[in-house]
Amino acid sequence: MDKKGYSKEKANEIAQAIVKREIQRRICKNESCKHFSYDHIRNEEVCLVADCRCREFTK
Ligand SMILES: [Zn+2]
Ligand SMILES: [Zn+2]
Repeated sequence: MDKKGYSKEKANEIAQAIVKREIQRRICKNESCKHFSYDHIRNEEVCLVADCRCREFTK
């Protein structure tokens, strides 16, 4: 049972939006990178993807 009273569809929609936002937060905003934070050393340093020249995760 959903205590907030959303329909199942609405609840799914909200869950999707949260997931999308979480994904966005983990993507490097460096134009030439756009890889995930976990592709970067310690989630914030050099990008480990081959040929990527990103040297710092950009939030
Ligand atoms: Zn990268
Ligand atoms: Zn990056």
